[in-house]
Amino acid sequence: MCLWVPERPHYLDELIRLEGCGRAHHACHACGDSDAPYRCEDCFLVNLFCSSCIITLHQNVLLHQVKRWQDGYFHSTTLKQLGLRIQLGDHTEQLCRNPKPARDNDYVIIDVHGIHEVALNFCDCANAPSHYRQLLRRRLFPATSTDPRTAATFAVLEHFHLLSFESKVSAYEFYHSLACRSDNTGIVPIKVSSLNQSVRLT
Ligand SMILES: [Zn+2]
Ligand SMILES: [Zn+2]
Ligand SMILES: [Zn+2]
Repeated sequence: MCLWVPERPHYLDELIRLEGCGRAHHACHACGDSDAPYRCEDCFLVNLFCSSCIITLHQNVLLHQVKRWQDGYFHSTTLKQLGLRIQLGDHTEQLCRNPKPARDNDYVIIDVHGIHEVALNFCDCANAPSHYRQLLRRRLFPATSTDPRTAATFAVLEHFHLLSFESKVSAYEFYHSLACRSDNTGIVPIKVSSLNQSVRLT
């Protein structure tokens, strides 16, 4: 503590710096495009990117939270709003000839870092497995086996399993903490069910 106390202002400076753009210019870190307002909260890089490059960066990390720099601060947005689609089945979105969007283009995935609204395509090609099987093959546990619109990652299920043994956390408390991680203001309702109900846990 004696070593740290004199450094406290610098720690505070760095934390506040992360709330803004730092020295980043508003040019895309990847392609140099001048319109680059997006930053990922979960990636190692804290640089700004254009919408195209931030989508490219997240082709295989689909459940990150992104923010948009606007009017002097970062606003929450989603990879779904930026156009990222998750394609299930044994091929990518480009190769699947019969991608079938989830009903109403409305799908929720619960992960360790939060609850994500995503744009998800099932594969509707001949001989494609059922929708819940397609989810299970990508380590997503569907909320129901009939027309699932919510799934939990295997990672979040294992995380809760361990926490329930080690800390006796309840499912309600665990879910509530994930909802807060997604939006700690309570302003944005967090979807929780395949019935398109928005429930705020208060
Ligand atoms: Zn770019
Ligand atoms: Zn990311
Ligand atoms: Zn297909």
